[in-house]
Amino acid sequence: MLAAVLHSPGDLRLEERPTPEPGPDEVLVAVAYNGLCGTDVTEFTKGPMMLPLQQRHPGSGHVGPTVLGHEFVGSVAAVGRGAEAWLGRRVASGAGVSCGACPRCRRGRTNLCDRYWTLGLSADGALAEFVVVPAGTLRPIPDGCRDEEAALAQPLAVGLHAVAGSGIEAGDTVVLVGAGAIGSFILAGLAGHDGRVVAVDIDEARLASARALGATETVLIHPDDPLGPVRDVVRSGAEVVIEASGVTGAAQRAITLTARGGTTMLVGLTRAPQPLDLADVVLREITVRSSVAHVCDADLPRALELLTARPLGSLLVDRVVPLDRVVEDAFEPLATGTVGGKVLVAPRHG
Ligand SMILES: [Zn+2]
Ligand SMILES: [Zn+2]
Repeated sequence: MLAAVLHSPGDLRLEERPTPEPGPDEVLVAVAYNGLCGTDVTEFTKGPMMLPLQQRHPGSGHVGPTVLGHEFVGSVAAVGRGAEAWLGRRVASGAGVSCGACPRCRRGRTNLCDRYWTLGLSADGALAEFVVVPAGTLRPIPDGCRDEEAALAQPLAVGLHAVAGSGIEAGDTVVLVGAGAIGSFILAGLAGHDGRVVAVDIDEARLASARALGATETVLIHPDDPLGPVRDVVRSGAEVVIEASGVTGAAQRAITLTARGGTTMLVGLTRAPQPLDLADVVLREITVRSSVAHVCDADLPRALELLTARPLGSLLVDRVVPLDRVVEDAFEPLATGTVGGKVLVAPRHG
């Protein structure tokens, strides 16, 4: 089978590999679509950065350069012992694999599993014609949901997880800072909120898409004054501020924009240490929360339900690229920032 294998920064190769075989409780998925996100682009430009395969996934037969791809849908082409019920079904997969037995898993917080590993990062993923997946990570795609739509389920599940963790109540003013990749899925997850949803970004095109996704107001900011224009719109602060930009200083600004007694939800990643005014957090009794990845059992079915009711592909997908063009037409334009929306990669079978 054809697979996109990451060897070193910028060196993603299309290689012929043997089609993998599912072990017990695993299935072989014939990949229909695999979406790319910022993590893939970072791996492409700077990786491989994630753990070598075998440390986390002792069953996988392969050690060495990894097949990327962790946001995927397809149909089950073969099954291992114990996974027979999945044969032939259309499935969406979560990206992270959890053990089900550690204290976090037992509390339903499988995204924080002690033995968590990620398909397409710490084991071979779905930028290939086929991928082997533990059956526990799969959810069936509802009949009314096309594969192209279901391919957005994993990133939407990440957005829904962040929204669910924010404790938003009816009537709350919600500010979303950063309407890009993650932010757009958070906005989609905020659909139906009974209250103001204010999207903030430095890019007018992203704000236009934010309005289409359901933001009630948008604020265009300039990096020289990222706070002022938002303050003009939410004068006494917002009950919930979701920080999804990951820009230096944005976490503090999100706290500043949060109303007394409100919640700041941190989703964007800033690698460098950031100074925060914690006296302000205490004196105004701000709750600072965070959100990472998604919980397969809770967030993935809800994402698929939402995508069945409200197809988002036309709003969010920029292009569909065949697997054999994945470097030129997907990773290179993503790395240079010349693609705005989501890119789906479609392997050709046979
Ligand atoms: Zn991703
Ligand atoms: Zn666990």
